[in-house]
Amino acid sequence: MEGLSCGRPFLLHTFEQVIDISVIGGGLAGLINAILLNRAGLSVILFEEKRYPFHRVCGEYISNEVIPFLKKQDLFPTEFNPSDIKRFHLSSISGKSLKMPLDLGGFGVSRYSFDHWLAMLAEREGVKIIHRRVNRIDFDDDTFRLQDKEGDNYLSKIAIGAVGKRSLLDKNLNRPFFSKKSPYVGVKYHIKTDRVGEDVIALHNFKGGYCGVSRIENDTFNLCYLSHREGIRKYGSLEDMENQTVKKNPFLKEIFNSSDFLFEKPLVINEITFQKKEPVFRHILMSGDAAGMITPLCGNGMAMAIHSSKVLSEMIVENWNRGFNRDELETMYTRKWNILFANRLLAGRSIQKLFGAPLTSEFAVKAGQTFRPFANYLMGKTHGKPFS
Ligand SMILES: Cc1cc2nc3c(=O)[nH]c(=O)nc-3n(C[C@H](O)[C@H](O)[C@H](O)COP(=O)(O)OP(=O)(O)OC[C@H]3O[C@@H](n4cnc5c(N)ncnc54)[C@H](O)[C@@H]3O)c2cc1C
Repeated sequence: MEGLSCGRPFLLHTFEQVIDISVIGGGLAGLINAILLNRAGLSVILFEEKRYPFHRVCGEYISNEVIPFLKKQDLFPTEFNPSDIKRFHLSSISGKSLKMPLDLGGFGVSRYSFDHWLAMLAEREGVKIIHRRVNRIDFDDDTFRLQDKEGDNYLSKIAIGAVGKRSLLDKNLNRPFFSKKSPYVGVKYHIKTDRVGEDVIALHNFKGGYCGVSRIENDTFNLCYLSHREGIRKYGSLEDMENQTVKKNPFLKEIFNSSDFLFEKPLVINEITFQKKEPVFRHILMSGDAAGMITPLCGNGMAMAIHSSKVLSEMIVENWNRGFNRDELETMYTRKWNILFANRLLAGRSIQKLFGAPLTSEFAVKAGQTFRPFANYLMGKTHGKPFS
């Protein structure tokens, strides 16, 4: 089978031809890495186990810090008319609430549309996308050998792991974080509602979790929550847990009871882990959530995925053009990743402790109400500056 990248032919399914870059995972991080590296003239194949378009559990609120970069690279999804989010509404479990403008703000667009659009663009520009799961990666003789679930093999000089928060590949690679259990479950719906302002991102606490609601494209809203698995276990089903805990927050009760739910059933994922990970593991350069995941309440994971893929791609191109020095690339990327993101992840984990528990969620809202700079300070700790 033949693919073509930037006019340079490469053969797939053979051991002889070494491709420049293999990207494993086609979320925002993987797609943007693939697009940028292909544009720089490197041969790129991307593996995504699912078929676009598909929904993902995600709040779909993207911090505006990414806009200069996306626009400069013609990657801003203008055609979907993303929502423009400027205000924040936080409520405690009992319904005490705080409303404030957002310094930087964000936009809303579904991953269903955005990822699909980026994947089509990547393919049009010459990235070869293979819809198969990569089960195994070995590094030998300065080259990666990837094996997909059909048993086909591919060779590449550089491998980028963009497999998201948790993948079977992490298990097969024996990444240390994989063995640590996580109690968090993520649930997502798309809804039609008139109870949340078009330019508002709402973050409502409930016992054991928190729920974000904000507009995406086509007058549709995303409702996505993170909950402790115990709640579901205790009440037996998601629906009962929602009735017994989520809807105890008066804002959530109103939204749940008055909205049209557009999915037949919710999208659910388990084992959402915020454990520390490695930006480089067994010479694989990790990008996006695969390098480290920020807690969803920060509304910043996608911006970090986009930013980390920009930084990584630029470093690869720069290093490649100087003759390629793997050790130097790995050291520099690890250092840069830690400078840019490590503290944000730490801040996100600390702030999350204030959420989902009666006393601390009341405290967080009260502190934000009485001392507005405190709320701005916390947000500043988890958000980055606009970058291009
Ligand atoms: C409940 C919840 C709410 C969130 N809300 C927000 C929010 O509002 N705003 C925000 O900015 N962030 C939010 N996030 C975080 C955000 O979703 C992630 O940070 C972002 O999706 C990371 O992108 P990524 O490309 O690294 O990974 P992903 O988007 O997860 O993509 C990884 C891809 O890799 C593929 N893959 C995995 N393993 C393999 C394999 N072995 N072979 C081939 N393909 C593979 C998967 O199918 C997947 O498509 C939220 C997260 C959760 C859990």
